[in-house]
Amino acid sequence: MTVTRFAPSPNGPLHLGHAYSAVVAHDLAKRAGGRFLLRIEDIDGPRSRPELAEAFRRDLAWLGLEWEEVPAQSTRLATYAAAAQELLARGYLYRCTCTRAEIVSLGPRIGSQGAVYPGTCKTRPPEPDKPAALRLDMARALADVGPLEWEDAVAGVQRADPLEAGDVVIVRKDSPASYHLAATLDDAADSVTLVTRGEDLFAATPIHRVLQALLDLPVPRWHHHRLLVDASGQKLAKRRGSPSLADRREAGEDGLLLAEQLRLHRFPGGISLASA
Ligand code: GLU
Repeated sequence: MTVTRFAPSPNGPLHLGHAYSAVVAHDLAKRAGGRFLLRIEDIDGPRSRPELAEAFRRDLAWLGLEWEEVPAQSTRLATYAAAAQELLARGYLYRCTCTRAEIVSLGPRIGSQGAVYPGTCKTRPPEPDKPAALRLDMARALADVGPLEWEDAVAGVQRADPLEAGDVVIVRKDSPASYHLAATLDDAADSVTLVTRGEDLFAATPIHRVLQALLDLPVPRWHHHRLLVDASGQKLAKRRGSPSLADRREAGEDGLLLAEQLRLHRFPGGISLASA
């Protein structure tokens, strides 16, 4: 059974790029007689505005999509904490008290997930009274589980290269899990078989593949779709003037027609799919 999901973070309203992502995931499931899930990823600290979730549901209904909603991430914190404790006890995580500014001041290499952590707290005991994140000791993890492969329905079989991203954060200072840990655990708990999302998250998948191996989770397939970009080639964002789906809905636009147009890759106002 094909199970896909749309997993928006309620940090801001949904726009056309999200609509495209939801339609792609919905149709991949429905065409295969499978299930399409909605999961609200609402653990992004103060950026999370859970009240937006209701607008997201209205947006999906307006597009004519049918979904099953699974529990929001904020209801699953105990699961994340248990998995993090297990990884910590097995020696795969270490405490890190470095601030973003400290890391930047070390002139780190920039990888797919941003600044690659130079491992400072791995070799010096972190001060116990400072707030700490938990980082994955990637070299140690890979020594035990690697090399790993994963399969993208569009791009084919990939060799995971998570060292490229370095010792990523697994438990944030301000949140009981990072996106990587929460999404990986949830996709397994929700029985997702085809993780459908934008290409901007392609480079996160090797990290998720390592977590699956460490935590003995089932390995899904992935479908990373191309992103929508505006006339200047930039990712859509409300701050660059892309109207939100709620704006379009409230202006009386026909959502069913919009979903049909997205399926046909007919995009309004100079918007197109980014070239691969
Ligand atoms: N919550 C993420 C976002 O809104 C998507 C995560 C995913 O699809 O894995 O960007």
